[in-house]
Amino acid sequence: MAACVRACGARVLELRSIGGGAPMGDEAGISGHPSFRPGQSWADAAAERPLTDDHIATLRRIGEVRPTRVGDVLIREGDRGYDFLVILSGILKVCDHQAGVERELASGGEREFVAELNLLTGERAFTTVVVAEPGEVLVVPVDKLRTLISRDQALGNLIVQTVLARREWLTHAGTGLRIVGSRSQPDTRRLLEFASRNRLPHVWLDLDADPAADVVLDRHATPRDQTPIVVMRGGEMLRSPSNAELARAAGVGTAPMPGMTYDVAIIGAGPAGLAAAVYGASEGLSTVVVDDLAVGGQIGTTSKIENYLGFPVGISGTEFAERAFLQALRFGASIVLPASAMGLSCQGSRHLIHLDTGDDITALSIIIATGASYRQIIADGVDRFSANDVFYTPSSVYDRVRPGQPAVIVGGGNSAGQAAMALADNGSPVTIVIRGTDLAANMSQYLIERVIGDPNVSLRYGSEVRKLDGADRLEQVIVEDLATSALQAIPASALFVMIGAKPRSDSFGPAVKLDTSDYILTGSGLGPDARREQPWTILDRDPYMLETSVPGVFAAGDVRSGSVKRVASAVGEGSIAIRFVSEHLGRRVGLAPVSSVPVRLPGRCRRGRDPRVGQAEFSHKAPDSEPGRAVGHRGGRTRLSGGCFHKYEGQHFFRVINPETRITASPLRCGLAHLGAAGAAGSFR
Ligand SMILES: Cc1cc2nc3c(=O)[nH]c(=O)nc-3n(C[C@H](O)[C@H](O)[C@H](O)COP(=O)(O)OP(=O)(O)OC[C@H]3O[C@@H](n4cnc5c(N)ncnc54)[C@H](O)[C@@H]3O)c2cc1C
Repeated sequence: MAACVRACGARVLELRSIGGGAPMGDEAGISGHPSFRPGQSWADAAAERPLTDDHIATLRRIGEVRPTRVGDVLIREGDRGYDFLVILSGILKVCDHQAGVERELASGGEREFVAELNLLTGERAFTTVVVAEPGEVLVVPVDKLRTLISRDQALGNLIVQTVLARREWLTHAGTGLRIVGSRSQPDTRRLLEFASRNRLPHVWLDLDADPAADVVLDRHATPRDQTPIVVMRGGEMLRSPSNAELARAAGVGTAPMPGMTYDVAIIGAGPAGLAAAVYGASEGLSTVVVDDLAVGGQIGTTSKIENYLGFPVGISGTEFAERAFLQALRFGASIVLPASAMGLSCQGSRHLIHLDTGDDITALSIIIATGASYRQIIADGVDRFSANDVFYTPSSVYDRVRPGQPAVIVGGGNSAGQAAMALADNGSPVTIVIRGTDLAANMSQYLIERVIGDPNVSLRYGSEVRKLDGADRLEQVIVEDLATSALQAIPASALFVMIGAKPRSDSFGPAVKLDTSDYILTGSGLGPDARREQPWTILDRDPYMLETSVPGVFAAGDVRSGSVKRVASAVGEGSIAIRFVSEHLGRRVGLAPVSSVPVRLPGRCRRGRDPRVGQAEFSHKAPDSEPGRAVGHRGGRTRLSGGCFHKYEGQHFFRVINPETRITASPLRCGLAHLGAAGAAGSFR
């Protein structure tokens, strides 16, 4: 391993307050993260393993060697997209800049690589990489790297684990964007939530508590009454941006591809939507997911999921969401955010999702996975304190309650239990207030045992919150005992309200049928006589499991009537929905069974560009060129047009996306046409 470049140790006044949930302070404060030492090597920083000879040999096959000279800037803060760099010799320095002051973060030498999570997600770079000692780098284009990651499991795992660890490390190092504003401004809280839910490294400069905030405002000639502002890497400043503006500036998410008809469009990127995206894209369906806030849904707000299969010591909601997001991207799903689905309509056999951005997404099938949102509490003083001290999600409880300060939680479900444990672990005395007489109705047994066994947690059964009280900030919560009507004041610096959720189905009824509590009805829930009604009489079938009252529109996860409100069931339903999407797509064009008809393959075809860039056209006219296997096909001739190319595991595939245009095979029955290197020969599978 090459020697490290020494730390420059520049003191940066702006690096204060909270970034990624941790108080930052000055440079000394930053080292609050156990593994942060300015200028240390990547290997030490994120406990990385270097690349082996075999890895480098593999990467050499798809990369190009380039010499480096001292001072060459290989990546600049704010860059959109960069190549994967393997250091063959010499030393590279990773740094960031605030107001012209450079701060060295890490260095890398031989066998290390330069990449961060944003290489795979497409977000803008928030560090600069400069050559400190000359040598050579191997430059691997990112599209080739993606293919390699999906084909070479060992190397893929090493790269993915490394970029995830680096994101965590850099977040704690206080890199990324600066949000300057006051805790009492709703826009500041919105921007902080957006940044943390989207895992954007950021530092919050609190206008009420941090003198560095005024320094930054002066530098950007911004008076206090025009806050919050966001200072991006690269220097761009946004004044009170909307979530969509911030997303665009940071390179989060994508826009829907114009003119594209997707096989499946998924509304909501919680566990159900992400599972559907992973299964849909991995089955070769052109898949798009849209979310109005961030990837992860409710689970992105939880400190730890402990009952999800395969994670014996639990996994944080953030990490769960991050991993699922990468998995969906890896299989080629497009993620559009932030954009809210405002309604649905049909155009023939296509479905349209109308977005609040003014765009429409067109798809042959839709999965609604919009989950649920939190119910609000009614008590005196809620409005007065709701800006600062009343919370409906437990995310980053540490940001909200200083260690040792008291908190009250209303609710008896898992989310309440998890918040209580997180607060109690942080040294806060916690009181849980519930209306019922035990926790067993809604909380998992493992959590009940912890909550009851923790000396920092007390329980108030059969009680309700009546009033919130305090001078400027919340100081106490008045709770009524429902049996005796006695009132008691409980000290509290924060109130967490976790009293259940309501389905986020407003945009879809009456287009799809809802139950009396506004959850979406599916499958047998539509009633035993559904088949005797339109449109099922024409289709001559019952609604599929998870199918709504509109054929081809499915619902999965918490938004569905009768769903079990758990991560595992949401994930299960998302994947099952894809199975029925396949049925729907295959059935509608009425093909012969897959294995029954021989097919003749293209003699010539025109090949388009990568589907990420645009749509391509494909047609073949020499039906007798080569016999194929197993495809729905009528007659001796097959003519396909309208579709898109797609690269998966290093091979090009053509996906038919418009079965109404002279197509005799549906996307699913036909599967994927492998075009081979020449783009002409191949076989259906
Ligand atoms: C704090 C907390 C802790 C939890 N802990 C656990 C646990 O330990 N174990 C467990 O099994 N379960 C747990 N749960 C429950 C679990 O998180 C949910 O059951 C699960 O997230 C439901 O997934 P979903 O995909 O159906 O919906 P959600 O997770 O609600 O995701 C829906 C997504 O859709 C988006 N959306 C909504 N409307 C629109 C629209 N119109 N347009 C675009 N996007 C939209 C939302 O922004 C959201 O991102 C917890 C829940 C919470 C809140």
